[in-house]
Amino acid sequence: MAKEKIELTIDGQIVSVEKGTTILEACRQVGIKIPTLCHLDEVSSHGSCGICVVEIKNSKRLVRSCTGIALPGMEVTTNSERIRSSRKLNLELILANHPLECLSCERNLNCELQNLAKQLGVKESRFQRTKKKLIPLDWSSSSLVRDPNKCILCNRCVEVCAQVQSVHAIDIAGRGLGSKVSTFLDKGLGYSVCTNCGQCSLVCPTGAIVERSHIEEVFKDISNPELFTIVQTAPAIRVGIGEAMGMPYGALVTGQMVAGLRRLGFYKVFDTQFAADLTIMEEGHELIKRIQEGGTLPMITSCSPGWIKYIEHFYPEQLDHLSTCKSPQQMFGAIAKTFYAKQAGLDPRKIRVVSIMPCTAKKFEAGRNEMDGAFDFWKEELKADESERFADVDYALTTRELASMFKRVGIEFSSLPDENFDNPLGSSTGAAVIFGATGGVMEAALRTAYEVLTKKSLSSIDFMDVRGMEGIKEATVMIGEMPLKVAVAHSLSHAKKLMEQINNKTSPYAFIEVMACPGGCLGGGGQPIPTNSEIRKKRAESIYLEDSNYAIRKSHENPSIRALYEEFLTHPLGERSHHLLHTSYTKRGEYGPF
Ligand code: SF4
Ligand code: SF4
Ligand code: SF4
Repeated sequence: MAKEKIELTIDGQIVSVEKGTTILEACRQVGIKIPTLCHLDEVSSHGSCGICVVEIKNSKRLVRSCTGIALPGMEVTTNSERIRSSRKLNLELILANHPLECLSCERNLNCELQNLAKQLGVKESRFQRTKKKLIPLDWSSSSLVRDPNKCILCNRCVEVCAQVQSVHAIDIAGRGLGSKVSTFLDKGLGYSVCTNCGQCSLVCPTGAIVERSHIEEVFKDISNPELFTIVQTAPAIRVGIGEAMGMPYGALVTGQMVAGLRRLGFYKVFDTQFAADLTIMEEGHELIKRIQEGGTLPMITSCSPGWIKYIEHFYPEQLDHLSTCKSPQQMFGAIAKTFYAKQAGLDPRKIRVVSIMPCTAKKFEAGRNEMDGAFDFWKEELKADESERFADVDYALTTRELASMFKRVGIEFSSLPDENFDNPLGSSTGAAVIFGATGGVMEAALRTAYEVLTKKSLSSIDFMDVRGMEGIKEATVMIGEMPLKVAVAHSLSHAKKLMEQINNKTSPYAFIEVMACPGGCLGGGGQPIPTNSEIRKKRAESIYLEDSNYAIRKSHENPSIRALYEEFLTHPLGERSHHLLHTSYTKRGEYGPF
């Protein structure tokens, strides 16, 4: 049903908007972008920063446009001396307590606070600092670093963590000048139920929450002639990194990204998509086995490390529902340090695996104790003792960190030529590309499960019902005579709804895909800032365009994956796969272990 419309006047223009629209939204609809620091589209309007004020005729006070509702006949002014000086005053009050360390700050040149100061013409604050002490940084998380001194208490991180992710790891604690973003008992993010999803770092307007950087370590390893430092890139990087290098939102830059990585000096440039195809082989066969042998259903995907930590904390009794498959990042690391090391004649102790991921939680995942299957594979042959134990993946960098590396060495990204991935771990299919979008793992798995089970070719391989940005999507797919009911959720608040059905034993599904971040990996917490719903849609379009460009679009048809099974793994779910490609999970509960 069409919503009721109302009319108001904004800067002399008559505007018609839906009843209930905020003044801020109404202004945007006529092309007036009101500045804000705390408002978060589609999530919350906190009204705390006081930057978005406007004048309303016959109202003595200025009104905060993000919380004020547009009313019929309202006359709004967005540009006056009174408004400009009020915005400046509020910004100066914020800056009075802000450490102006722009030169050493991760967000320098991409900071909303810095941009706003420039936009409003604020060069210094007339006010004295009122906060007496500097607060120590929170280094407890393996994925994120918090600097409370740069926090402007806008509440965006708290809202995204609670409303979008249903995690509630952080909240504003204390009063007045003592207020700060804090965790349970103020113990630090690394000792909380935080899933490391990084959505807070995407929405933070300042450098108060940023990824924990490993750029220096990676540069050092690349230039160490004793080491073979190889790199893998997740599907979502090719539709994100261009943005961070000044190109349009969603720019598809696969070949230039490969060229840039080669210019950085990596020994080989490989593709996580190779391992995404491998994941489908293992996960698809696991699903088939569970269906045929009466295993735990619904089976839930396990590629998203933020999701894994969420279920470990909040639904520890339901871990049997998770696929035992490691994520593509981890499968890649295990195969690189075993199969590839053997084939290339390299000492696995000298291989460094660097991942470029759209995700901050991948840093935590790479450091999990159980992610070191390659060491066990080699232990006897190398006569290595426990002190030499190495991880399958050494460093996981975000898209933003990769952009910093490119900028640091002066790579002119837009003028790079297109180059191809190295082989054998650089070959992939269209099914692997779509891992980057919500619904993609499901679609890729269906393309393979259908053909393996029915031994027939699919007439159409595009499963449109599981595409798009709906929070929960469902479909019933006929696999021969068998109807397979599936669901896809992105963002943890949506995953929670599906988990409640499982808890209540009312889940109608056989297979569920969950991605922790809105839009899936393309909206991951390590992607370029800004990331919002419009940008996520553009990145998704590029992902599906890339899929359609591939000659091979089903994981089980990837010739390099076939060769990997023939030469090394033997068959999906075999003994070697079990040791290298599958894992187990930890019952964490809400009180840890964290
Ligand atoms: S958060 Fe922004 S304004 Fe503050 S130090 Fe960093 S770049 Fe500068
Ligand atoms: S990383 Fe995710 S779960 Fe952790 S505090 Fe930020 S939004 Fe919440
Ligand atoms: S940490 Fe960032 S997002 Fe959270 S309240 Fe502070 S400034 Fe806002």
